[in-house]
Amino acid sequence: MGNAKQPDKKPFIAYVIGVIVIMLLLNTFLVPAIVRRNIKEVDYSTFLNMVANKQVEAVQLDSDYITFTDRSSPSNFYRTATFEDPQLVERLEKADCTFGRVVTETNPILAFILSWVLPLVFFYGIGIFLSRRLMSNMGEGFGGGNPMMSFGKSGAKKYVPSTTSIKFQDVAGEEEAKQLLQELVLYLHDPQKYADIGASCPKGALLVGPPGTGKTLLAKAVAGEAEVPFFSIAGSEFVEMFVGMGASKVRDLFSQAEKNAPCIVFIDEIDTIGKKRDSGALSTNDEREQTLNQLLTEMDGFDGSKGVIILAATNRPDVLDPALLRPGRFDRRIPVELPDLQGRIDILKVHAKKIRVAYNVNFETIAKTAAGASGADLANIVNEAALRAVRMGRKVVNQEDLQESIEVVIAGYQKKTRVLSEKEKLIVAYHEIGHALVAAKQSNSAPVQKITIIPRTSGALGYTLQVDEGDKYLMSKTEILEKIATFTGGRCAEELIFGSITTGASNDIEQATRLARAMITQYGMDDDFGMVALSTQNNIYLGGDSTLACSPETAKLIDDTVVRVVREQHDKAKKILEDNIGKLHQLAKYLYENETITGEEFMSILEK
Ligand code: ADP
Ligand code: MG
Ligand code: ZN
Repeated sequence: MGNAKQPDKKPFIAYVIGVIVIMLLLNTFLVPAIVRRNIKEVDYSTFLNMVANKQVEAVQLDSDYITFTDRSSPSNFYRTATFEDPQLVERLEKADCTFGRVVTETNPILAFILSWVLPLVFFYGIGIFLSRRLMSNMGEGFGGGNPMMSFGKSGAKKYVPSTTSIKFQDVAGEEEAKQLLQELVLYLHDPQKYADIGASCPKGALLVGPPGTGKTLLAKAVAGEAEVPFFSIAGSEFVEMFVGMGASKVRDLFSQAEKNAPCIVFIDEIDTIGKKRDSGALSTNDEREQTLNQLLTEMDGFDGSKGVIILAATNRPDVLDPALLRPGRFDRRIPVELPDLQGRIDILKVHAKKIRVAYNVNFETIAKTAAGASGADLANIVNEAALRAVRMGRKVVNQEDLQESIEVVIAGYQKKTRVLSEKEKLIVAYHEIGHALVAAKQSNSAPVQKITIIPRTSGALGYTLQVDEGDKYLMSKTEILEKIATFTGGRCAEELIFGSITTGASNDIEQATRLARAMITQYGMDDDFGMVALSTQNNIYLGGDSTLACSPETAKLIDDTVVRVVREQHDKAKKILEDNIGKLHQLAKYLYENETITGEEFMSILEK
């Protein structure tokens, strides 16, 4: 692959040529001027006088000049124009001069150092400095190696394959993804077997899923299972300051991979370079486009039977360039979804192995409470629990640690230092009970698990935790409406009890509105609009914001309907609270005094 690197050396060669030219110029003009500065011009009669007085030691006879030295101080040079003088030799002999030989004006070694070695060192230094600057500008740590040789080498880094010890068993849940990847592992174990039949293995697989679900982990596990080298690079590392550098990095990566085959190349967050190329004429990004093109070319170019597999991960599959996804490139799409209940239990257990856990910890309860948590969240929960155990001076992690750290990870750190005024605390207590009571009095709401009015660093002054039994994939219209009613319940309680309202409901309002809007524009649950998609979902794996796709008149109608839906639910919630005002007071008082109540306590007071 020697010729693949040819273009990288161009800047280096240009630099060397530049240095040589500059040094030649210096040596012809500047250095002689400096070195000969202490030559004294004298006239011929002075010369003859000095010869007669035996002051002259060595004499060099050139065609134009006579150069000579002073006997008493040999570093003083004199020069005089040549003169038609037939007696010159005789005079010189008489005065005991050495003559005719070349007189070196300075120490030859010194002259050499001055005119060649010093400038070379100087330019070498500048070269290093420049190449360092370039590299650091591009965000490249460039330790080791010969800096001069790497100057201008497009910042391409040496890709060092790593072998990981991560195995499939370290990835819990995600059975489907593991099964799909298993075939790649088998292939990497014995590429020849596939080549013999003539089957070409998939060149690439794309791991797709929300953040923190273990995509990176799975890729590493494939390498660990197949016991082959693993080249890992983030998509953002290809994005360079100069056009063409990203592309040359891609070239480098693939040539390295081919040398190390069988191996795995893993490009994390590939959406940074793999975005659709036509996305908006305003921001044409030549560099990114070139990099992507190079990637496409490399993927086509290399021999599939060699045993190089390219894995990539993204949470924005919708923005990827279609060319990346066509057969022969990342034609396999492996979904890596948020874990279900069993998956969450398994993930908790995998991570709990790394810490000391009390024997009686019930992972199922923890997993149930942490609905919607990703693998990364769960790993974080386990770690927070261990930290808490240490803080508490215990040697093992118990149930309470885990329970508490769910709240840490999901709701932010419990903030004991923030003190609410008594009045504020009372308002928050009524607000939260308002949510819980409305939820409990509706038939399809998830049961209340916990209510607290201890402020969190996330800014929430209190919250009501509702936990569904098992996992839910479908929501009925009634459930959505009841959810909206539950969201408005907090504000309703404030209105009822205090006659005024506070800012504490802003998050509730946002969520209620979002639900109502989605109900109409996405789920087709409004009778007036029917089953018409009025909005398009953008990045489904990243929170999923949506844009309206309808006429301005319809948009106005939608707004009106959203207002109507939320108001109806608000009225319903208010009615529920009015009917149960005794319980509202009783529960709010209890919460105010205890700050935290569990679902069971809540239900027992409610049913008493
Ligand atoms: P992403 O999908 O964003 O690439 P990562 O693979 O980086 O997520 O996951 C981050 C961390 O979360 C992992 O290092 C691991 O500790 C934990 N994790 C995520 N999913 C799982 C899983 N299925 N099993 C075990 N640990 C997981
Ligand atoms: Mg990742
Ligand atoms: Zn609220």
